[in-house]
Amino acid sequence: MSWFDCSSFWASLFGACVFTVSAAWANPSENMKVKNIIYTEEMLQSSVPEGLSRIRSNISTKSFSTGERYFPVLLVSTADYKSIDSAFVFRMFNEEGFGENGYYGSVKDYFIASSAGLFKPTFDIYPITLSNNFRSYQSDASFILPALDLLVERNDFKSRASKYEKTIPFIILHPLFKDDAEKLCGDFFNHAFALRYSINKVYSKNGYSFNDYAFIGQKAKGKSSSTNSKDVDMLGSYVHEFSHVIGLKDLYSADENGYATIGPLPYDVMSLGCYNGNGNYPPVFSAFERESMGWLKPIEIENNDSIYELKNISGMQAYAVSNPNHPNEFYLIEYRPAVGYDSKIEKSSYSGKQGKNGVFIWYFDFDETVFASNNPNKDVNHQRAEVRAVLNKSQEYFSNFSFVNKGGTANVDGVFNVVFDGNDRVCFTVKRSKTLDKCPDIASSSSVAELSSSSVSSSSVEYSSSSSLATVGLPGRHMASGMQMLLSRGILNVETPMPGKKTLRFYDAIGNMVGEHSFVESSASIDISGWNRPIFVQLDVNGRLLLAKRISTLP
Ligand SMILES: [Zn+2]
Repeated sequence: MSWFDCSSFWASLFGACVFTVSAAWANPSENMKVKNIIYTEEMLQSSVPEGLSRIRSNISTKSFSTGERYFPVLLVSTADYKSIDSAFVFRMFNEEGFGENGYYGSVKDYFIASSAGLFKPTFDIYPITLSNNFRSYQSDASFILPALDLLVERNDFKSRASKYEKTIPFIILHPLFKDDAEKLCGDFFNHAFALRYSINKVYSKNGYSFNDYAFIGQKAKGKSSSTNSKDVDMLGSYVHEFSHVIGLKDLYSADENGYATIGPLPYDVMSLGCYNGNGNYPPVFSAFERESMGWLKPIEIENNDSIYELKNISGMQAYAVSNPNHPNEFYLIEYRPAVGYDSKIEKSSYSGKQGKNGVFIWYFDFDETVFASNNPNKDVNHQRAEVRAVLNKSQEYFSNFSFVNKGGTANVDGVFNVVFDGNDRVCFTVKRSKTLDKCPDIASSSSVAELSSSSVSSSSVEYSSSSSLATVGLPGRHMASGMQMLLSRGILNVETPMPGKKTLRFYDAIGNMVGEHSFVESSASIDISGWNRPIFVQLDVNGRLLLAKRISTLP
């Protein structure tokens, strides 16, 4: 048996998440061939990942995608291939504002940005050396299990293990370029999977248990033998596969020739967006993905004359238009300006088409089982996760909120009169006849009140802390030292020595904005003594979210 036949198990599947480039790296117009693991019903049984069960439900099961979490990363060398330097890999995964090799931030930065600080993963890097040559490992499990056996013997692992989950999710990085590895063993494309499928059980050793994992190559194309830190793979590979580990599914699908032509190609990290900006600017999680993680609850639009204000997705806000007869079929409206990780949506590689920034109108027909199979967009005529329109400054509108399930009819006509207020927010109406020239002045308390009343929702935004001055998010890169936010006798004193425009936004417990204050000086004092209820405050500096706190003026 040749090493190409190494796994009959995989031969029965399509494999996962590998993008085999079909043309020269530099040509962005070419499509690429893809594989993705298709989970059968038999495999899944009742093991739908916790995250996705949150969609359209009030289930708030515990998962490992909120708060401060720690994950081991096995940085594996073999007898014949050496790893990239572990100190460098640690920085690449964890360093705030990491910018080497074209990366727009570290892996950790990406998840902090996507969660507005609600999920702060730390990746502990453990160098592991397997004793045999790479090609002697003939399945992903035959590579993973001996690496785990070495991991659990390490004293540094043992001393940190209390920080990990009960069943420990992990990342394993093999020392080659992914396609070179795949030539040696068909299992070795980049993928995420679970040991309960690959070896039919959770793996336990020395009292530690392991199941979910991401299996990813360390090196860039043509660099399998290099140990130079410049030759590491792109950010999008690590972010995409780890997003599977926390519960997301592939949104790309392939045509009959195996090319990735179906799905929200440049718009989503779980599609081909992980290739945006040469793979170093994966787009942040969409509102759907944030809802899947339990980080965001969209606000249902009501059919009235209100002016709807929609913050940049970094403000953790989105609107929904749901099928009244089938709550799992819905549209989501989110604002995605060309900032940060989203700044290369118009510069995707290998998507076959470029995206554009603006207000995304997503359509979803969510089915837990279909999504769990990892191919929700396989039917080109009925994609279950699709960007139906992107509205930008040319004053386009969207007026086709149509549903296919149970005769559902939307109670709003569309999204009209979209007005852009820089990168911070847009405003729109849901009635064609209601005109709008500019966003209401958010400094005016009356207009803010009007906005609040128009966006009342029965679902509440979940904040992770209930103490009166708890910091729930520190998502910023370039965090300034000397920054302070203190509440004293009803006066909120904010000090931030960074230059630029600072904006404080205040929200009530269900996510409605109740006030905003902008300033350019290094400090500001805001009287909030009249607000006798808990308030959530976010601080932006030059449009970048730096701090989120829950504060209370209650005694
Ligand atoms: Zn994938």
